[in-house]
Amino acid sequence: MSEAVRLVVDGDRCIGAGQCELAEPELFRVDDDTAVAEVLGSGMLALDRAEVVVDRCPSGAISIEEPAAD
Ligand code: SF4
Repeated sequence: MSEAVRLVVDGDRCIGAGQCELAEPELFRVDDDTAVAEVLGSGMLALDRAEVVVDRCPSGAISIEEPAAD
């Protein structure tokens, strides 16, 4: 199984296209009022699925959070 990573959405770049919600409906929700996606819960997802959803976002708003450097 693939390593789990945390996904984050840059609300300034999100254009509300909803591709993330289509791909991972349990992890993303596009707010009806703001048309900006939010990450639900912990935002954790297996790396292979995370890479797919990052690629699908047309505005490049989704990124894999790098672990904090020690
Ligand atoms: S796919 Fe990207 S642009 Fe579209 S709603 Fe999700 S984060 Fe926003």
